[in-house]
Amino acid sequence: MLDVIDLTAAYGHAQVLHGLSLRLEAGRIHSLLGRNGAGKTTTLRRIMGLLPHQQGRILFAGDEITGWPTPRIARAGIGYVPEGREVFTALTVRENLTLAGRIGSGDWTIDRVMQQFPGLHPRLDAPAAVLSGGEQQMLSVARALMTSPRLLLLDEPSEGLSVQMTAVLRDVLVALRDQGMTILLVEQDVGLATKLADDVTLMSRGRHCWAGTAAEFAQAAGVRRRYLGA
Ligand code: ATP
Repeated sequence: MLDVIDLTAAYGHAQVLHGLSLRLEAGRIHSLLGRNGAGKTTTLRRIMGLLPHQQGRILFAGDEITGWPTPRIARAGIGYVPEGREVFTALTVRENLTLAGRIGSGDWTIDRVMQQFPGLHPRLDAPAAVLSGGEQQMLSVARALMTSPRLLLLDEPSEGLSVQMTAVLRDVLVALRDQGMTILLVEQDVGLATKLADDVTLMSRGRHCWAGTAAEFAQAAGVRRRYLGA
């Protein structure tokens, strides 16, 4: 579904990705793990076309999307839930969703999204500013779904969520996977990330360092200690 090959990325003169490779199989949840500063957020931003193209290739569902502008990548079917939500607080929940719905195939409607997030339904006409942090996070995921993605990238979606909200999020991600969506998850909560994941890629200092199934990762105590200190 997604093949990232020898990707590099920099912020100005600071080289952050040094040749990262990553392969996602369709219809699976893939956790990208690594210590703070390893380059996980940068990887997602680079896939989404939010950083200048340097070296490497990105292949998505048979298309070479290397160097494509972000709107074209979104229309091709990659949804993005950025770190820190970034919902439009001056707009209502419905307006946030409607705007996102202009991108993509239209497979996802507000009604369909509300089935995944019934808790947001009574808030549809409220400004996003009055939602709790957890509700804003749900809105951020709901908004990404409105672009009808085949691949969903999520950057630390459980950050700041209560235990209950984290459980809702977990159930939604599993339901999406079971409907055939491919998910790439960056998560600080290694427990959550590995519980949800079918596959795991570990990165360190801007490079790929390990990949395997979640079951293999569970057995790989040495790898976890070395790259995560866990
Ligand atoms: P975290 O879990 O802390 O978010 P991460 O693995 O997602 O870590 P990145 O956020 O991708 O890591 O950051 C990788 C490196 O790039 C870090 O050294 C960070 O300081 C640097 N970096 C990130 N964003 C910028 C930026 N906008 N300008 C300059 N350097 C940046």
